Amino acid sequence: MQYTEVMIRYGELSTKGKNRKDFINRLASNIQKTLVDWPELEFHPRHDRMHIVLHGAPFEAVDARLKRVFGIQTYSPVVTAEKNLPAIEAKALELMQATFQPGMSFKVNTRRSDHQFEYDTNQLNSLIGDYLFDQMTDLKAEMKHPDLVLRIEVRRDAIYLSNQLLKGAGGMPVGTAGKAVMMLSGGIDSPVASYLALKRGVDIEMVHFFSPPYTTDKALAKAKELTGILANYSGKINFIAVPFAEIQETIKEKLPEGYLMTIQRRFMLRLADLIRAKRHGKAIINGESIGQVASQTLDSMIAINDVTAMPVLRPVVTMDKNEIIALAEKIGTFDLSIAPFEDCCTIFAPPRPKTKPKLDKARLYEQELDIDGLVARALAGIQVMPIYPNQQFLHNKSAEDADLL
Ligand code: ATP
Ligand code: MG
Repeated sequence: MQYTEVMIRYGELSTKGKNRKDFINRLASNIQKTLVDWPELEFHPRHDRMHIVLHGAPFEAVDARLKRVFGIQTYSPVVTAEKNLPAIEAKALELMQATFQPGMSFKVNTRRSDHQFEYDTNQLNSLIGDYLFDQMTDLKAEMKHPDLVLRIEVRRDAIYLSNQLLKGAGGMPVGTAGKAVMMLSGGIDSPVASYLALKRGVDIEMVHFFSPPYTTDKALAKAKELTGILANYSGKINFIAVPFAEIQETIKEKLPEGYLMTIQRRFMLRLADLIRAKRHGKAIINGESIGQVASQTLDSMIAINDVTAMPVLRPVVTMDKNEIIALAEKIGTFDLSIAPFEDCCTIFAPPRPKTKPKLDKARLYEQELDIDGLVARALAGIQVMPIYPNQQFLHNKSAEDADLL
């Protein structure tokens, strides 16, 4: 059925004053960005809800995008009717027929802001209820817990009808919590951590370490493509590729094997922090989960976190792998995450990394390296590119050609 508009209700209503205004403005702009494909849409952000007038745009397609916009609690497709009883009856019937399944119970719930209208709320409830009973078979009335609530709103300009309450993505509009850098590997955990950070309103930029010639173009393409999936939740995400091979080779050559992983991670975090500062981010986010591997024990976190005083956020830190996988499946990153292109950490992973590295030893060993030079050269090789929703990288020609070399 052709809906007239979509009504959007906001999440986290505790936000007040200026914060509330920022929340609404940001949400409106995020929604507009995600719906750019329909220039005919008209947006009306208000204090307590937002209306999108469809002007003929298909609700189903708009719905598929809206589902993923953080900051929306619930939303409803709405039809309008002219202000006379036969028009209301006709639209009510059309709406019910489009959504009703045999055996469902329902009730009519009318509200009126135009008190001049010839019927009051009780009259409309029973008139429309009776009409629907006459026209439809199998319909049951239920006042307490109906399956469908047909909402009728009598406003000055028209009558508004809706009977679906769709669940939004929840969370906060992306951008309301500021900006951070996200350390994205090609694995399962960091894409899920990215999603959770976006959900709390953090605008992220991906930092990805790659190590040619040890890692293939496909590993890089995979991280970019994961970013494309996550961009569905925020519109666009910048992807920052950082060359890491020289650092890994140098560490491997000069330092004791037990500390390879710890020192590599210290360099990753140090570089992520410098990129964060340059790009005005306020935190670093990663996909660590306590005890999952040697680099994610609390002792390892002490030895690695030492290189920055900025907040390092770990959204999946207390989740079990099963829980992380379930979320990865839900957000659509799992299948790509398990594709077998190895990233830089797997390739330089020592056979027996220390699960309890010592901070003073990590600091001491590191002194043997030209830290500033290594960092400066890695930063000089950075490449930044914007990635858009569902952008593909694994199957394009250049990745394929590169693989043949
Ligand atoms: P993931 O599934 O996210 O790869 P993991 O369990 O494989 O996580 P590790 O490889 O130990 O864990 O990495 C821990 C975290 O370090 C990752 O979640 C990610 O935030 C960061 N990280 C690891 N490799 C890279 C990389 N190549 N580029 C950017 N960040 C990385
Ligand atoms: Mg990994």
